[in-house]
Amino acid sequence: MIDTSEICFRCNKPLYLTEKLEDISFYNCASCKRNYAKEPGKDLTDRWMSPLSIVLYDIIYNKERISDETIEIVADRINTYETKQIEAIIDDINEELVNPKQKLIAILDLHGTEENARDYLKRLVKRLKV
Ligand SMILES: [Zn+2]
Repeated sequence: MIDTSEICFRCNKPLYLTEKLEDISFYNCASCKRNYAKEPGKDLTDRWMSPLSIVLYDIIYNKERISDETIEIVADRINTYETKQIEAIIDDINEELVNPKQKLIAILDLHGTEENARDYLKRLVKRLKV
């Protein structure tokens, strides 16, 4: 079912409502195939398992600026992924940093600030290689 109240922030097309639960709704974009999630009263974000959510998962509980050690550990792990997956992560990080479209801390209810999350992505992406 198309839900015209939610628009894909990547291609500006109305999204399909794929699942509606009491506290969260899930959407899919027929054009770019991305999956989205939205909790009542909050903004639309990427759904869990998106490239950004995979790297943000590592800092859910970090309240302070992310340490170089943490970034190194995350980068070392991601650099073992398949090339296609690393590329998707790099692309999504660069796209979001240049052209912010969503609240990063809302993707996974991060405990830290939006500023720290963006700083983390900026430093992490420099260490990712394909
Ligand atoms: Zn789209």
